[in-house]
Amino acid sequence: MSSVSSVSSFQYINGAFRDGTSGTTGDVVDPASGTTLHTVALAGTDDVDRAVAAARDALPEWSRATPGERSAVLARAARLLEERAEEFAWAETLQAGKPIRLSREFDVPGTIDNTDFFAGAARNLEGRAAAEYSADHTSMIRREPVGVVGSIAPWNYPLQMAAWKILPAVAAGNTIVLKPAENTPVTSLLLARTLTEAGLPDGVVNVVTGTGQTAGVHLVRHPDVAMVSFTGSTVVGRQVMAGAAASGPKRVHLELGGKAPFVVHDDADLTAAIHGAVAASLINTGQDCTAATRAIVHRSRHAEFVSGVADLYATVRLGPTGEEATDLGPLISGRHRRKVAGMVDRARAYARVVTGGAAPGGDLATGSYYEPTLVVDAPAASEIVREEVFGPVLAVLPFDTDDEAVALANDTPYGLAASVWTRDVYRALRATREIQAGCVWVNDHIPIISEMPHGGYKGSGFGKDMSTYSFEEYTNVKHVMHDLTAEAAKPWHRTVFRL
Ligand code: NAD
Repeated sequence: MSSVSSVSSFQYINGAFRDGTSGTTGDVVDPASGTTLHTVALAGTDDVDRAVAAARDALPEWSRATPGERSAVLARAARLLEERAEEFAWAETLQAGKPIRLSREFDVPGTIDNTDFFAGAARNLEGRAAAEYSADHTSMIRREPVGVVGSIAPWNYPLQMAAWKILPAVAAGNTIVLKPAENTPVTSLLLARTLTEAGLPDGVVNVVTGTGQTAGVHLVRHPDVAMVSFTGSTVVGRQVMAGAAASGPKRVHLELGGKAPFVVHDDADLTAAIHGAVAASLINTGQDCTAATRAIVHRSRHAEFVSGVADLYATVRLGPTGEEATDLGPLISGRHRRKVAGMVDRARAYARVVTGGAAPGGDLATGSYYEPTLVVDAPAASEIVREEVFGPVLAVLPFDTDDEAVALANDTPYGLAASVWTRDVYRALRATREIQAGCVWVNDHIPIISEMPHGGYKGSGFGKDMSTYSFEEYTNVKHVMHDLTAEAAKPWHRTVFRL
């Protein structure tokens, strides 16, 4: 196992590690064992000020680096990430409780691919052709960085969330201060250092590890922060938006919670749907904003679907996160497990828990593990169906007509992701049009790719991560209009005065 001891100070400001000066500490705990990996001197408002000042000072030079120069740094970073893939995978597994297979085969390669993608995107600035849209003027579009970006990330995919925030911002010529979740800062710090080693000038990427209430609030409201990009819960997203409005207004990009529907029609390949539901509800122990959480299944296939998922859930191996054979890791913390278990326990009053609904004992008792849990007969308006559980819990609801399936899929404050399972191409196309979500999969659920956007509708926020759509979020579009007449009295002046 690679060590994570190469990080011992948890603020990365102006190209150097330092300790936070808040006077308070926080622990990074391995959720699989309960062992404290690091005690972090957390960032205070002074550290955030220092990081923002470094980002502000680095902005003029970096924003004027050519697209080719920015691209070259990111391309070098991608190669360094490849060389360090094992170090990143182990660091992510330890701090976030991910099975090593998930870190190795999803988090780390996804981040490398994203880095390569943004190395390419940095050189592809798009806009309308420069032209004489008015006969008397030449118009052209400039795409410019927004400035210092303040980014805030959650704990569920620490490395990928850091990459999704940092890469498009930097590729577009911005500088950034990232605040990772205080319990999972390690891979964000490793990523920042790797970028420096790839040639990124000091101050372009800074990481402050602190609490949301202290470092997060201060970063959002900082007068020198021009844009806030946030990934996290919808509740905190509202506070971030309010803070950005009060201190700006400044540009806001919000990637918030989800409660993804998984719609199975009567003509679906049920074996594929069952496999898909198990994988999509359990990925990252269900701590995934796009995870399948509400299976909406045609009444004629409901019983078969439920028994198929329950049978497959029984084969999923909970185990030590460092073992290649482990399928399911723990939840992020004992506190989070109490939240998940509380929701399942309350559901017993109005629904049936088919399987799971408990924490395993034995060797896993010291970690915050929770069994895959299947819930049926819950009313559509109940807590387990409507609220984000963020654990390995799938609720199954029946439907009778296509319209009812779409209505149930949309009966949520969220709109991040959804899937529809059918062999009927017309039914699939209608569903992809009707379902209100930023991503709709057909006969699959979860895959993401660097070229395509990720982001929400409704209470899941707005703005896109990944793809050139996210690159565009981190730029301002400027119209430059150049007079061609060289006349003092221009024709349009007649609308205001006549000589
Ligand atoms: P959270 O909202 O509690 O915290 C997210 C981040 O915000 C953390 O870094 C936290 O310290 C910080 N924060 C907390 N209060 C703050 C405040 N008042 N001002 C500024 N920052 C503050 O979320 P979490 O529990 O860390 O993550 C889980 C949530 O993230 C889930 O709702 C999940 O759906 C969502 N999520 C969404 C996406 C997406 O792409 N839409 C991706 C991953 C996670």
